Amino acid sequence: MIVEMRTGASKKEIDDVVQKAKSLNLGVQLNLGTDKTVVAILGSNTGQIPTDVFAILPGVESVTRIMKPYKLASREFRPKDTIVDCGGVKIGGKRIVVMAGPCAVESEAQLMEAAEAVKKAGASILRGGAFKPRTSPFSFQGLQQEGLELLAKAREKFDIPVVTEVVNSQDVSLVASYADMLQIGSRNMQNFALLTDAGKSQRPVVLKRGFSCTITEWLTAADYLLAEGNQQVILCERGIRTFVEYSRNTLDLNVVPAIKNISHLPILVDPSHGTGRRDLIEPLSLAALAVGADGLMIEVHPRPEEAWSDADQTLDPIAFKRLMKRVNLFVAWQQNFVEQEAELN
Ligand code: PEP
Ligand code: MN
Repeated sequence: MIVEMRTGASKKEIDDVVQKAKSLNLGVQLNLGTDKTVVAILGSNTGQIPTDVFAILPGVESVTRIMKPYKLASREFRPKDTIVDCGGVKIGGKRIVVMAGPCAVESEAQLMEAAEAVKKAGASILRGGAFKPRTSPFSFQGLQQEGLELLAKAREKFDIPVVTEVVNSQDVSLVASYADMLQIGSRNMQNFALLTDAGKSQRPVVLKRGFSCTITEWLTAADYLLAEGNQQVILCERGIRTFVEYSRNTLDLNVVPAIKNISHLPILVDPSHGTGRRDLIEPLSLAALAVGADGLMIEVHPRPEEAWSDADQTLDPIAFKRLMKRVNLFVAWQQNFVEQEAELN
């Protein structure tokens, strides 16, 4: 349930709403806006509580029952877009942010070459897996702590923030001590213990969509992070499983404008995992921006043919540079389109 306070509601009026919720054994989370406060009433039994219980309290403007299971990720709770800060890079604001780097950190030379190439081409965040969630236990599992140390080294050397995946709860504090931003991968989107621990870390988190999860399940998973008081959450569409066999996954671009309508969280698109095919990455990147994505996540390796994982979907530095040029051209064109479109209204 979402309680919207009147503009200028007093602290006492807000406290009374909070106290009422607590007396009913419900949780609360406040969104203290510049002129309006919104109170999310949390609990599994809010459906049984009449809205009047809150509507009659002084200072309350409206009470909306949220039938959807997610609350904190909803636009009703936070009408304004969330802007996430990853080591000084803002995601969800006006600028398109590109995160790029290898699927996995493989060696110092590989990571440094990749970092140099992506930074030079205009990426603002370096990605690279130190812990890899692999389908087979016999596949490369990542360099783990050594990979984290290399990422930290690349950050210093190239002055670029880093994002890397954390695959289980025990590693959250270790990964958070090296990375500017944590990634929770598709396979772990509904690992609720991991979500709670990543939320507690207070590091920004990129939450990739589970490859067979609905938008509702995705936003409800985001609520686990937000419920820990961590507001720094970014969603990332990375393709879903369908019957097609010409691409690894089907990049579901429908979700981008849909998420923008119902959630305040920024959303990235990962066309590398979304297509699994190098030749599809550039067109799908532009398509993602056209539908309103806040940024892209792209796999880049100095020599993709030697990559230890996801070689088929990995760009080389030349292809990435070409992609970035097109991204920049497209963004400039889009900005102009947005301005002209605003004049039409
Ligand atoms: C990744 O980004 O390296 C990754 C493993 O992605 P996903 O979780 O989307 O499969
Ligand atoms: Mn990968």
